[in-house]
Amino acid sequence: MVTGGASGIGAAIADRLRADGLQVATLDLNAGEEKFCYTADVTDRAAVDAALEDIRAELGPVTVLVNAAGLDRFKRFSDLTFDEWQKVIDVNLNGTFHCIQAVLPDMVEAGWGRIVNISSSSTHSGQPFMAPYVAAKSAVNGLTKSLALEYGPQGITVNAVPPGFIDTPMLRKAEQRGFLGDTAKQIEATPVRRMGRPEDIAAACSFFISDDASYITGQILGVNGGRNT
Ligand code: NAP
Repeated sequence: MVTGGASGIGAAIADRLRADGLQVATLDLNAGEEKFCYTADVTDRAAVDAALEDIRAELGPVTVLVNAAGLDRFKRFSDLTFDEWQKVIDVNLNGTFHCIQAVLPDMVEAGWGRIVNISSSSTHSGQPFMAPYVAAKSAVNGLTKSLALEYGPQGITVNAVPPGFIDTPMLRKAEQRGFLGDTAKQIEATPVRRMGRPEDIAAACSFFISDDASYITGQILGVNGGRNT
C-alpha cells in the first residue's frame, strides 16, 4: 500500500512497485487512475481501517507499506496558529502512525514486512518557515529508527527516504507561490546539478522493499543529489 499514491512521489513509487511485480493499492485524498486506488484521509483512522478492509478483501494482507502522503506549509513560526501547526503534524506524522499501526498486524502475522517512510531532506538542515513540517518529518525519521528495533525480530524492516528537491505538484505549487526562491539557484546548489525526479525516490523504495535489502533496517537514505546529506 502506498499512501499519497495519486500524485508526485507516491504515484511514481506505486508505478515502480507495479513494474517490480507487486500488487499495489494506493491510499490518497484523491482517486488515482490505476486499479486498486482507494480514497481516504490518512489522519482519519476509521477511514484508513475501512479502506484497508477493502484492500485486504481485494488483494490479501498488506505486507509492504510506503508512507508518502504529505502536506507542506510555509509560514513564519510566530504567525502560525496552533491549528495550522497541528494540521501539518497530523498529516505528516500522525497519518504515518495510523497507517503503520493499521497494517502491522498483517506483517506480524506473515513474519515479513517492509515499511518505507518518505520524510524530507529538510530534516538534515532545518528549513525556515517550515517548522511544523520539519518537526513532523524529523519525528518520522525517529519513528523509523524505533520501529526498526521493535519489529526487526518479526521480520519487518523499517527505513526512511528523505527526498531532496523533487519535481512534483507539491514542489511546483510552492514554487508558484514564491516560497522556493529561484529554482535555477536551487539546482546550482545541488551537487549533481538537477532537480530530483519522483522516480529517483521510487528507485530507493524499490531497493528497500527488495530481498536484497533484507539486512538493512532503521536507515535514513537521503536521495537528494548530494545536497543536505
Ligand atoms: P504531492 O504531489 O502533493 O503528493 C502528495 C499526495 O498526498 C497528494 O495526492 C495529496 O493530496 C496526498 N495527501 C495529502 N494529505 C493527505 C491525507 N491527509 N491523506 C491522504 N492523502 C493525502 O507531493 P510530493 O511532492 O509527491 O510529496 C510526497 C511526499 O514526499 C510527501 O510526504 C512530501 O512531504 C515528501 N517530500 C517531497 C519533496 C519534494 O521536493 N517534492 C521533498 C521532501 C519530501 P492533495 O494533493 O489533495 O493534498
